[in-house]
Amino acid sequence: MNLTILRDPDQMRTLVREWRGQGHSIGVVPTMGALHEGHLSLVRAARAACDRVIVTIFVNPRQFNNPEDLAKYPRTENEDAALLAPLQVDAVLVPDAATVYPPDHSTLITMSGITQPLEGAYRPGHFDGMATVVALLLNMTQADMAFFGEKDWQQLQVVRKLVADLQMPVQIIACPTIRADDGLALSSRNRQLSPASRDHATVLPDALFEAAQQIATGADHDIALAAARGALSAAGYESIDYLALCDAETLGAPQSGRPARLLAAAWIDGVRLIDNIAVTLPE
Ligand code: AMP
Repeated sequence: MNLTILRDPDQMRTLVREWRGQGHSIGVVPTMGALHEGHLSLVRAARAACDRVIVTIFVNPRQFNNPEDLAKYPRTENEDAALLAPLQVDAVLVPDAATVYPPDHSTLITMSGITQPLEGAYRPGHFDGMATVVALLLNMTQADMAFFGEKDWQQLQVVRKLVADLQMPVQIIACPTIRADDGLALSSRNRQLSPASRDHATVLPDALFEAAQQIATGADHDIALAAARGALSAAGYESIDYLALCDAETLGAPQSGRPARLLAAAWIDGVRLIDNIAVTLPE
C-alpha cells in the first residue's frame, strides 16, 4: 500500500472532513519519529480501534529545553515511512516547524500541578511545549482517540489532564511499554548509546522491578529506593535525576489503596533514559 504523507495541516483537515462525512472514526498516534516497535505497538492499537489511522511525526522544538538535545535527536523519515508502510496507516502528517509555529505564533499552554515534579523539575518548559503541540496536533487531526505510551508515564497523565481541563472531545488510550528482550524500554535515545553502555543500561529496568517487588512485599520505601540508586551507580549510570515512588495519577505522594508508580530518569554515556513501572502498595 502506498503511504500518504502530508506536510500541510490544511490537506490533513480536508482528508479528515472527507472521512468524517463517510462516518469513519479517527485515531492519531503522535510521535517525534525515529520509530521503533514501541511506536508501532501504538499504531497497531489505533488500527484495531479506529476506522482511519493518522501517525504524526514532528520533532517539537518547544518541548526541548536543551538545544543540544534537539540537535542530537535522530531524524529518520525514510526509515520511518518504511516501518509504517505495512501497517495500513491512512495518513502520516509530517508538518514543518514553520507551519506548526509560524513567526507570529503566540499561544503557549501552561499547566500547573502535575507538570511540576519529576520531568518538570529537570526539563523546565518541557510539558508546556508538549501540551501545546498535542493540542495543535489534535486540532489538526480531529481524532476521536489518541494513543500514548506508558513509557512516558508523566506525559500520559499530563495529556489526560490537558484534554480533561480543556474539555477536548478525544479519548486518550494508554498502551503498555514495549521492551527489548533484556528489559530495556525501547527508546529513540537508545541508539545514542555505545554497545557497552547499551549492555549496562538494562540495570535501570532491573533496579525498578527489584525495588517495586521489595515495596510490594512490605520493604521500607527509602531503603528500596536507595538500593535501586546504588545499583544504577554501580552499573555506570553517571547521575540520577530522580528515582521516586508516586501516586500513579497525580504524581504526588503515594497513598495506600491507590495505584502507585515508580519512575526514574538517569544518565548513562551522556544519554538520558527514563522508565517507570507499576507498584502495588501493601495494605
Ligand atoms: P516519542 O516519539 O518518543 O515522542 O514517542 C511517541 C509515543 O510513543 C509516545 O506516546 C511514547 O510514550 C510512545 N513510546 C515511546 N517508546 C515507547 C515504548 N517503548 N513502548 C510504548 N510506547 C512508547
